[in-house]
Amino acid sequence: MAKTKTAYFCQSCGYQSPKWLGKCPSCAEWNTFVEELVQPPAGKTANSTFSQTVTAHRPVPRLLSAIDMQTENRIDTFNMELNRVLGGGLVPGSVVLVGGEPGIGKSTLMLQVALDMVNYTVLYISGEESEQQIKMRAARLGDKKNNTYILTVTDMETVFRHIESLQPQIIVVDSIQTLHTGSIESPAGSVSQIRQCANELQQYAKVTNTPVFLIGHITKDGALAGPKILEHMVDAVLQFEGDRNYGYRMLRSVKNRFGSTSELGIYEMQNDGLRQVLNPSELLITHRDEHFSGITIAATMEGLRPMLVEIQALVSTAAYGVPQRSTTGFDGRRLNMLLAVLEKRHGFRLATKDVFLNIAGGIRIDDPAVDLAVVSAIISSNEDMPINPKTCFAAEVGLSGEIRAVSRVEQRISEAAKLGFEKIFVARHGFKNLDKKEFGIELVAVGRIEQVFEILFR
Ligand SMILES: [Zn+2]
Repeated sequence: MAKTKTAYFCQSCGYQSPKWLGKCPSCAEWNTFVEELVQPPAGKTANSTFSQTVTAHRPVPRLLSAIDMQTENRIDTFNMELNRVLGGGLVPGSVVLVGGEPGIGKSTLMLQVALDMVNYTVLYISGEESEQQIKMRAARLGDKKNNTYILTVTDMETVFRHIESLQPQIIVVDSIQTLHTGSIESPAGSVSQIRQCANELQQYAKVTNTPVFLIGHITKDGALAGPKILEHMVDAVLQFEGDRNYGYRMLRSVKNRFGSTSELGIYEMQNDGLRQVLNPSELLITHRDEHFSGITIAATMEGLRPMLVEIQALVSTAAYGVPQRSTTGFDGRRLNMLLAVLEKRHGFRLATKDVFLNIAGGIRIDDPAVDLAVVSAIISSNEDMPINPKTCFAAEVGLSGEIRAVSRVEQRISEAAKLGFEKIFVARHGFKNLDKKEFGIELVAVGRIEQVFEILFR
């Protein structure tokens, strides 16, 4: 009898090892190795339909001079935000991973895209929902005339048989974690299964020039459930995210072989699907009829992602002896430091005042680039002078009151411009290399805090 062949896989990055390891040599995570069967099950060979399909389309050597020059031919998804995030449309033969938390609306987005691409034959493979559930969702999205086929099987052998007979022009897989290939005997959702299934689809996409969307769930801490290796295999990784309590969703590209990763797509979740938001600042920034003092907008980064947040400050005379300092979502010690700078260097009498600082939306910010927005909000509240809501900030404040440059300032500026802001304060230092015109937003380069206050409150 043949010996059972197994291997150990890091569940975090997909690293393969013949023996169990405590710490992954590739991603340095602890206790991530799980034993998985890697041999083909007895009496079964590798996915034969897949092999035939791929072999039939396999390219042969061609003389370079005989190859026609083709201009890059992007497919319009009829979804402007998606086109934007993809870098100007869908590239034929590309594999796009759409990740996001369960329930955030990935299936809705992809089904909507499938239904909107009426001129294309779309195969929507779902291991998550039944035909009836998908039909109901489609009806909610306004089930117009379309060319979308629903397939609710998850074994790759059958999937490829249907792909071969239907010859779809677009393939959507919901989700990659539910697929299962008979060529490996480990359960669906395991690292080796995900890798193998994605690999077969990727090869198919390449040899037939058929674009494939893979939906993948991500865990609470933001990692794709399953291996990181998936991210390396695909051409583009799009993250679909948003707070379930708010109606808006954002589509960001985390990786894109065919475009920039700084593009952002914004949608609003409505009963009849996702509405594309063409003027996003209206959603993100609190709606106010009048301008209040103590409110500023900071251009911050979450990891590699730019994000605009609202800073709210309230400064009032202390009612009782010891003044209060209270922060939500911001480091209290950093607030004390900034207050000391304002007091010592600029003569604002804040020692006898209560200061409350709040980052709206319940998020926590550790980015020093919000400093300038924080001090401006404090002074705005202290002086009771509102700041123009179309103004935002991206700079650090030093101990002597100097304005310091921050990382990835270009990305922050683009995000602010994209979100419809008219003016952004940045550090003068490091500004020289930036081309002022390309951003579509007024850049105010400053060197010291008093300059900022001069501009804001004169
Ligand atoms: Zn690892």
